Amino acid sequence: MNAQAASVTLVAPLSGVVIPIETVPDPVFARKMVGDGVSIDPVSNQLVSPCDGEVALVHATKHAVTIRHGNGAEVLMHIGLDTVSMEGDGFTSHVNVGQQVKAGDPLISFDLDEVATKAKSLLTQVVISNSDQLDGFEPVSGFVTAGTDALATLTMKAADAETEAEGGHHAVSNAILIPNPTGLHARPTATLVNLAKKYDSKIMLKRGDDQANAKSVIAILGMAVLRGDKVQIIAHGPDAADAVAALEEAILDGLGEEVSPLPRHSAEDHSDEPEAALAAAPEPALEAAAPRSGDPNLLVGVSASPGLGIGQIVQIRRNEITVVEDAPDKHKELRKLNSAIDRSLVDLQALQSKLEADADADKAAIFAAHQELLADPDLLDLATSAIDKGKSAAFAWQKAYNAFADQLAGLANEVLAGRAADVRDVGMRVLEELTGQRSEQQELAEGTILIAEDLTPSDTAQLDRNKVAGFATTNGGASSHVAILARSLDIPAIAGIEARALNIAEGTRVILDGTRGTLRMGVTEDEVAEIRARQVRIAERKQQEQARAHEPARTTDGHEVDVVANIGGLSDARDAAGKGAEGVGLLRSEFLFLGRNTAPSEEEQAQIYTDIAREMPGRPLVIRTLDVGGDKPLAYLPIAPEENPFLGLRGVRVGLDRPEILRTQTRAILRAVDAGAQIHVMFPMIATLSDYLRAKEIFEAERAKMGVSQVPLGVMVEVPSVAVMADQFAREVDFFSVGTNDLTQYTLAMDRGHPMLAAQVDALNPAVLALIGRAAEAAHKYDRWIGICGGVASDPQAIPLLVGLGVDELSCSIPAIPSVKAQVRSYSLEQCKDLAASALRKDTAADVRDLVPLDED
Ligand code: PEP
Ligand code: MG
Repeated sequence: MNAQAASVTLVAPLSGVVIPIETVPDPVFARKMVGDGVSIDPVSNQLVSPCDGEVALVHATKHAVTIRHGNGAEVLMHIGLDTVSMEGDGFTSHVNVGQQVKAGDPLISFDLDEVATKAKSLLTQVVISNSDQLDGFEPVSGFVTAGTDALATLTMKAADAETEAEGGHHAVSNAILIPNPTGLHARPTATLVNLAKKYDSKIMLKRGDDQANAKSVIAILGMAVLRGDKVQIIAHGPDAADAVAALEEAILDGLGEEVSPLPRHSAEDHSDEPEAALAAAPEPALEAAAPRSGDPNLLVGVSASPGLGIGQIVQIRRNEITVVEDAPDKHKELRKLNSAIDRSLVDLQALQSKLEADADADKAAIFAAHQELLADPDLLDLATSAIDKGKSAAFAWQKAYNAFADQLAGLANEVLAGRAADVRDVGMRVLEELTGQRSEQQELAEGTILIAEDLTPSDTAQLDRNKVAGFATTNGGASSHVAILARSLDIPAIAGIEARALNIAEGTRVILDGTRGTLRMGVTEDEVAEIRARQVRIAERKQQEQARAHEPARTTDGHEVDVVANIGGLSDARDAAGKGAEGVGLLRSEFLFLGRNTAPSEEEQAQIYTDIAREMPGRPLVIRTLDVGGDKPLAYLPIAPEENPFLGLRGVRVGLDRPEILRTQTRAILRAVDAGAQIHVMFPMIATLSDYLRAKEIFEAERAKMGVSQVPLGVMVEVPSVAVMADQFAREVDFFSVGTNDLTQYTLAMDRGHPMLAAQVDALNPAVLALIGRAAEAAHKYDRWIGICGGVASDPQAIPLLVGLGVDELSCSIPAIPSVKAQVRSYSLEQCKDLAASALRKDTAADVRDLVPLDED
């Protein structure tokens, strides 16, 4: 860093009202993905320089400019939101890259009216793009005048030399083996970075010759640290020793993830004999990894898709694509990128059409979503601004999609985190187009067990289930997109398997147990015979269950329970009918709204609801109104970022805040009712009686206008207050549907997606069961019905307990329907009631589970 003062006051680059960056309706800025900063709602139309410095970047479409101050701060100013799509129309730049400017010098003029009408917003962001080097950023509030008033004071961190001069020390950790199953992916990295940031010292994470700033998520992710990799922490500064000790301990403890022990420090003893089946020349990082199971022949991961597979290993290796970093001709690079994207769009369209022709709507939808990703303005913005800085199209694109995917992967929301794999998938497709370096398609033999670091959603969608007996990936988790696809294809699969799986020689015979998440090598003939027998038993049982799937689920003493399906769209409805669903207990209508740039119209929605209802004529279809917000943002429905999204504007609160959305959905539903559909409607995330009454009022007002007949209206029991006040609610509503996923999270105050709490967020906790029992009692007192639509309705151990608590309907995941029915049939109602009563007296969820042993197969 040069000698300029670390602190500087930025003057306002535009006149207008200062707005906190967190409230900008664009997550990329609001979540500070670009950096810390502030926004201005402008009334002037000439952006001036906020400080003296050098023009570091003028965006190709002239809507953004970066000034580098002498103290190292890079001040990015982005005029409006989504202004990249205006392609420079209405903007005039007054400066060039490399030019020196003074505070107040004009940078860009723009047509205020044109931006106001064409862009999503006029809000102009002033962001420090190298915020990792920022020590403090203090914006002002109120109205500011361009070139005159102060906008913010920023302080950059002291340089190394200064840190050392302040009495800095140097500390180095022992060599540490990374114990995390999938290495340092986004979540453990975020934990590491947050811990590192608590220390003043400069801290680096080192692996071999590579090192990265331990306070930068992007830098660490860029190192792609795997399980078993040997790293060291190096710190310089006043608290270097403390920082090293704390970080070393935190890494060994798994950085918030459950990890199985590796040697505490560097495996100086490489005493584990590599198995005969392991390939001759393993990579050093993998060689160091000890078997997680303690058995060299048994590799452990997590269950991604249940079932057993026997077969021969095929390793899927992706060629590393090499890219040249710099390219002088920006215009040429931009053209290259655009035409690679265009060619990819053509391929994706062809894949989508083929899958649609094969009536495989779910998989076709993946490729439709990929086409939308290629139009994402933020992704394109990231890539084009790197091209602008002189990077080649391939380099800029690779960096952009990886950074974008990493950001998504770090989000707590499952749906968004799952999109990270899609971004990488489609990113790789374009990169292959750009470089001409394509991965080869392998011909697979029957009985193949695939091993890969990761399978992309495209790979998985194109897997031939007749050839592939199972697959295991070292990356990913049970809720990844790939896992969901594997389950829908009914292929046994393991995610997050030990990295040494990548070294198993091709052709090795293995047994993959997708239910337990294990892969066994060194298999004997007897074991194969035993597994085949087990496979036959499971297949027979499934067949028996499927044979009776269309019969009612009646206990041995004649008590009938409705078994219905949770669905996300039309193709699910078809599948559910085939599996014996007696209706739909939960249509997650948000699936119709996700992955698009605009909300579906009333017509579109009405058509889908009508079509879904037609798949199950005469059966009830329970539509849940739009359940988004907070943790599930929609680009076209901006919600200011919140400190606690799960406790914020979510579910029905969004509909009450923006009644036009609820009104449109209501009208669409009523049109389907008018066309003969037997629909029930329920509202998500109801917490108070007035939430329900207000939502009902909106619904009823539309119904009165349209003159459509009465529709049963219910509430989801997801917030404990509803179960506690079930009596009062039961008087008002027509039915209850318990969303145990959320009810458990809110009852136990445990984030449903938190990796460290996953084992404890169990709906069989007696506290949750007591709330369900209370709601069931109140429902029956007023002659209402109660269903369960959370994940626990598909859990075999929960079935007798829920029936015993008085639940009338179980709404399950589609593949579980036949076995849930079989489970109901194997108990008497009396047995169920006894089990439920015992469960309520237990102390823990584990004790409750002990009451209902699992069938071993
Ligand atoms: C639930 O919370 O249990 C539920 C069914 O809703 P979702 O999982 O969609 O939040
Ligand atoms: Mg819910």
